[in-house]
Amino acid sequence: AGLDPDDKALIARRTAAMGPAYRLFYEEPLHIVRGDGVWLWDKHGKKYLDAYNNVASVGHSHPKVVEAITGQIGVLNTHTRYLHDGVVNYAERLLATMPDALGHMMFTCTGSEANDIALRIARNFTRRQGIIVTRLAYHGVTEAVSELSPSLGEFGRSSARIRMMDAPDPHHVAPQDQAARFAADLAQAIAEMRADGIEPAALIVDTVFSSDGLYPDPAGFLKPAVDLIRAEGGIFIADEVQAGFARTGDAFWGFQRHGLVPDMATMGKPMGNGFPVAGVAMRPELIKEFGEKARYFNTFGGNPVAAAAGMSVLDVIEEEALQSNSLQLGAMLKDGLNDIAHRHDVIGDVRGAGLFLAVDCIDGNDSNAALAGAVVNHLRQNGVLISATGPHGNILKIRPPLVLQPSEAELFLDAVDAAFTATKAV
Ligand code: PMP
Repeated sequence: AGLDPDDKALIARRTAAMGPAYRLFYEEPLHIVRGDGVWLWDKHGKKYLDAYNNVASVGHSHPKVVEAITGQIGVLNTHTRYLHDGVVNYAERLLATMPDALGHMMFTCTGSEANDIALRIARNFTRRQGIIVTRLAYHGVTEAVSELSPSLGEFGRSSARIRMMDAPDPHHVAPQDQAARFAADLAQAIAEMRADGIEPAALIVDTVFSSDGLYPDPAGFLKPAVDLIRAEGGIFIADEVQAGFARTGDAFWGFQRHGLVPDMATMGKPMGNGFPVAGVAMRPELIKEFGEKARYFNTFGGNPVAAAAGMSVLDVIEEEALQSNSLQLGAMLKDGLNDIAHRHDVIGDVRGAGLFLAVDCIDGNDSNAALAGAVVNHLRQNGVLISATGPHGNILKIRPPLVLQPSEAELFLDAVDAAFTATKAV
């Protein structure tokens, strides 16, 4: 294979026009022109099984979502300063998926903005500044939330008002000890913060710890930490950008797997199946004073087209029973990956919740990022798309659209097995 001259030229133009901060996936970057369900096609007509994109969660180009967006944009697209049924219906419908305590829903365009407004509300409500995040968290890109995104590396800003704590660690902590350990780590982070004269306003976590390396289990382990942050006068923000909208199969929201009611829940990515829709649900008292003294207007957030897109995604999840599909197909993938792990001693832990799975690539007791990279690129050459993540870059990240079917799951597993067979010398 190898890149053709046109794509080489496009890469050069892209760098010239868009600058150096963007990255392309894969040693041989992919030039995709079309998508349908779990499938993507490149410009040569080659087909790829997409096992990575959690944005097009109900499937690429889902006709119902396309119709909702095009239908609404052909009629009206304004913003939240006019009355419109669509956005109110959508807010009510989202709140109906949540615990009763979360009574207001505010809309943004991105997960970063959702976390940004959540932070403003949390700091305003608590009259405190301190935020605790996990060591390799990712919560977005604005100036304020980049402080909460240590996974951005040295250019992710850090400041005294942010404390990092360890993510759950199944490799060194037994499942039954995970809850107490996480709470003890939080207690330490709070104590360190206070030693610097900063009071904790909030604990914010991605409820499946995606960028930390995917640590969803044991479901429920978050509870004591959430009790603790509240006992210390702070609030708990569940970042549902990754775990929400039925991804884990066990529940519609990641916090529900942990038996929790957060003070705020932020969401985005799969919410509009690719159309920019994001937002935050919250306990009404958190925004009461803020709402009296300030106003919130986000030009594109919660516009009628966004609401139509979001509503259609909820319809599809329900009509196509995608939460139970995620649970069933997730279990099938996990079983299959465990079988493959028995055949390849370079595979360590296999874990996941629903259609969000992780596979550790190892070399004895060490992590093996080179192998993970080789497997990811081998799969790409063979028409299957995944990526790698985690502190050492050795964790395969598998996250197909929720519409994955058993035949496609089998195809995926065969490709993974073949990729490990072909690359295990790396
Ligand atoms: N929170 C989490 C957990 C995320 O994974 C992301 C996106 N990767 C964000 C927030 C930020 O969302 P966005 O890119 O829409 O700003």
